[in-house]
Amino acid sequence: MAEINPFAMAQRQFDEVADQLGLDEGVRALLRWPLREFHFRIPVHMDDGTVRVFDGYRVQHNDARGPAKGGIRWAANETLDTVRALATWMTWKCAVADIPLGGGKGGVVVDPATLSDREKERLCRGWVQQMWKNIGPRMDVPAPDVGTNARMMAWMMDEYSKLKGEFVPGVITGKPLGAGGSLGRTEATGFGVVYTIREAMKHLGMEPKGTKAAIQGFGNVAQYAAIGFIQMLGGTVVCVSCWDRHDRTAYTYSKDDGIDPLFLQSITDEYGTIDKVKAQAAGYRIEPGDAWLSKEVEVLIPAAIEGVITGETVQQISPRVRIVAEGANGPTTPEADQVFKARGVFVIPDFLCNAGGVTCSYFEQVQNDMNFYWHRDEVLQRLDEKLTAAFHAVVERSLAEKVYMRNAAYMVAIGRVVEAMKLRGWV
Ligand code: NAD
Repeated sequence: MAEINPFAMAQRQFDEVADQLGLDEGVRALLRWPLREFHFRIPVHMDDGTVRVFDGYRVQHNDARGPAKGGIRWAANETLDTVRALATWMTWKCAVADIPLGGGKGGVVVDPATLSDREKERLCRGWVQQMWKNIGPRMDVPAPDVGTNARMMAWMMDEYSKLKGEFVPGVITGKPLGAGGSLGRTEATGFGVVYTIREAMKHLGMEPKGTKAAIQGFGNVAQYAAIGFIQMLGGTVVCVSCWDRHDRTAYTYSKDDGIDPLFLQSITDEYGTIDKVKAQAAGYRIEPGDAWLSKEVEVLIPAAIEGVITGETVQQISPRVRIVAEGANGPTTPEADQVFKARGVFVIPDFLCNAGGVTCSYFEQVQNDMNFYWHRDEVLQRLDEKLTAAFHAVVERSLAEKVYMRNAAYMVAIGRVVEAMKLRGWV
């Protein structure tokens, strides 16, 4: 199968909505490509005395609505086109969530598992030394992503503050609590998924209590989606499916009367692998990795990886499923979308459904700016308000234009970015 270029895909999605919105050429030309791209080389003194040079990237797709925002990925297969695509999607995600930020993304071509902690720290500081003049709380605010974590954000914030000669915690988000991080960030994405499901149920006239969900994944997003689905909605989660990094196979962990996410969390490692032996001893049925897809449930929550619901696998989904809440990025292929449209399944598209993470990152930056920190309930309450409003803006657009939820979300997001560009006199 030919490799799909993610940036070509992002441009194709944009073109489709640009046609629907009737955007003129100048606007399209500006939004099809990032505003700014940085590609630089980062020399790092390795523990063995040698110097290795790493390729680093930062792409600022659009900052008409506010500073660019987006994570920094460390991956061996990172390319400029991946970073461009992810930066573009961040523009739409921040716009649909209606937070005053644009879209950016960064990367380093490196497998983090090959570096010691000291080498990681030097690479983090090296990245900032290359980029510090072009990032900042009013310009571009990075965050952790695949291959990077809170500890690294603290080093990067420290390096930036040293170079600026002042403490600037708002230059980067996803920091540890002790270094300017926000309460509620851990739960934010998973709980955000649940807020959008709650609103979808209201919209569809469903009573949440007693509904069932099946979830793919048991990492950060899936764990809190499971907890929220049970605690906030009074529903039951019949299974979670995760990848076992020891035997490199996916399994589904099921209990017909409902899993206990807090128990499963206690036997799950930091990479989202559940301890099979302990789960079995506690009465969990262990089924093949794709069993989660065919459960008799009202809600499916893909919250692991991209491309899992395809033209083929969509056929395994029960007619009972009414809502698909995309916790993961890009879990549904265009072929599967066609089937959902035909069957009238209500899809909460990824960049709306999982926008809780970036929204909480925005709150972190706001708290850094004020140098005043909110308690957890305040963070979650504000998150709920933001995502509820975002959800309804998209549903209203979907009803008004009679379009699928994904298209409606793109229309809302792109429309907001275009409006800001026009108001600022760019186009
Ligand atoms: P994570 O690494 O914490 O967890 C990933 C989970 O997916 C693990 O349980 C892993 O075992 C499981 N998994 C991997 N491959 C699988 C497979 N083939 N079958 C079944 N399970 C599999 O990741 P996360 O932070 O929870 O992110 C999950 C998804 O959500 C990703 O698409 C990510 O881009 C997206 N997302 C995350 C956030 C966030 O704040 N964490 C925000 C927005 C979007």
